[in-house]
Amino acid sequence: MTNDFEKLENLIVGCKKCTRLVSFRKKIAKEKRKQFINEKYWGKPITGFGDPKARILFVGLAPAAHGGNRTGRVFTGDRSSDFLYKCLYKAKLSNQPNSDHRNDGLKLRDIFITTALKCVPPGDKPTKKELNTCFKYFNKEIEYLENLKIVVALGKIAFDACIQFYKKTLQN
Ligand code: SF4
Repeated sequence: MTNDFEKLENLIVGCKKCTRLVSFRKKIAKEKRKQFINEKYWGKPITGFGDPKARILFVGLAPAAHGGNRTGRVFTGDRSSDFLYKCLYKAKLSNQPNSDHRNDGLKLRDIFITTALKCVPPGDKPTKKELNTCFKYFNKEIEYLENLKIVVALGKIAFDACIQFYKKTLQN
């Protein structure tokens, strides 16, 4: 199953299907925010992160322009994510209280975190077409989480994406 996640991750990271979002994520990575001017931004799609055997799933909208789009990891690099990872550590769901970038040694236990859309959208507003195009990656992530019991959706778009997934699953 880990192998499936790795293959999916490679597919997502190389994706260029939404031309508007490809341009936007690159633009942000080039222009940068002043406080991160000396950092190399990730500037590519963000994949889900965590324990493939997780029973708990957190779903957000999309990577933040100077958070995930900078650090290369979902929910990483801004204040709300600092709070989230501290809580996960306190709940013994991770091996460290901080999430700084892709290679900081963080490991999650029993939890997987992802976003409905894998690229940062301008103004946090993806189009319906972009959401639908990206939805297949989100679907696959949920499908691979075979032990899933609890889904926490953060925001309307994330919630709708989860509902859409489960509706489809029930129909099949
Ligand atoms: S939003 Fe999803 S489908 Fe669109 S370019 Fe990014 S990864 Fe690909």
